[in-house]
Amino acid sequence: MTLPRKHLFDLPPGVIYLDGNSLGPLPKGAAERAQRTITDEWGGQLIRAWNSAGWMALPQQVGDRIAGLIGAAPGSVATGDTLSIKVYQALAAALKMRPDRRVILSDSGNFPSDLYMAQGLIGTIDKGYELRTPAPQDVAEAITEEVAVVMLTQVDYRSGRMHDMAAITARAHAVGAVMIWDLAHSAGAVPVDLAGSNAEFAVGCTYKYLNGGPGAPAFIYVRPDIVDNIQPALSGWLGHDAPFAMEPEYRPAMATERMRVGTPPIVQLVLLDAALDAWEGVSMAEVRAASQVLSERFIREVEARCPTLRLASPRDPQARGSQVSFAFDHGYAAMQALIDRGVIGDFRAPDIMRFGFTPLYLDEADVVRAAEILEEVIGQELWRDPKYQTRSRVT
Ligand SMILES: *Cc1c(COP(=O)(O)O)cnc(C)c1O
Repeated sequence: MTLPRKHLFDLPPGVIYLDGNSLGPLPKGAAERAQRTITDEWGGQLIRAWNSAGWMALPQQVGDRIAGLIGAAPGSVATGDTLSIKVYQALAAALKMRPDRRVILSDSGNFPSDLYMAQGLIGTIDKGYELRTPAPQDVAEAITEEVAVVMLTQVDYRSGRMHDMAAITARAHAVGAVMIWDLAHSAGAVPVDLAGSNAEFAVGCTYKYLNGGPGAPAFIYVRPDIVDNIQPALSGWLGHDAPFAMEPEYRPAMATERMRVGTPPIVQLVLLDAALDAWEGVSMAEVRAASQVLSERFIREVEARCPTLRLASPRDPQARGSQVSFAFDHGYAAMQALIDRGVIGDFRAPDIMRFGFTPLYLDEADVVRAAEILEEVIGQELWRDPKYQTRSRVT
């Protein structure tokens, strides 16, 4: 089957959805699957459903499906919790691997929660750790022998700029640092060769390009050859080797499953499992090629139609993830005006209008139409309407 596969999604009529990089749409059938889980399994089978409905196996099954999309071996990806939690776990485990070093290296473009989690962990350990955040283009230079862990998000959430995963991981390893990749804007967006990169850890979320729904469980990858020596900071019972042995001492599972913490969110996992059906038979190379066609076309159209907008993403499609950002002083109001006309993107402070390209359910006609509507909003200054000026809690 070729792309797009719009028939697999429940998109509201009249909407061009360019925000699948933030919250993917509802896959058809997912709601029914969740409904069955709620009424038949929870309602009908009650606690027996952990066994009878296969709930207990679900986190690992879904992890294996995600592994297939990020170039990881089956069994190397655990699911659950939120991405922020998974960042904390990966970082805490990575620091334990380099007890003589005190520097965590990230970059100034990283998503705030990743940096906040690092700050919180540094405070908890209270052993003089330091978080360094050079500009993204200076990261490679900053990987020195002082660095314990390099923690980067591969695709920048604001600009879409992409780090060279293989080169940076190699550089980190050359100085003896541990590598953590955040794949929040990579999983389902760009081909990832996680095993090939040799990185020790990766984390990501599933409600963006993977369409798992709001609050969908996150994932964590641990390189299989090191997992037996990883010390989980959040040593919950479901990361224990034998949760139902109820042993008084923590003893981690002999797999990535040790990075699990507590009871898995079954309804969310069912939604995610259903959402992953849309990826059956699609190669990430095919998705990448289609996404580049869409984003290149969008840039051409917007630059021709809206000269006051400035491209805030790398111009080279190879250096970009699956999103395109434009800077515009009145970006917030302009995005509200655009959304009001059925073209949904989002805004990131201070002035970024962000558009995600998700070839599972977008085609070239959609992006041309989106650019036409954007031209109306900008050219006729429709964004000046007072109703577009008030900021909501979520932008
Ligand atoms: C979306 C995103 C998050 C969000 O974390 P949650 O815990 O899922 O809210 C964190 N980090 C990055 C890099 C992201 O893109």
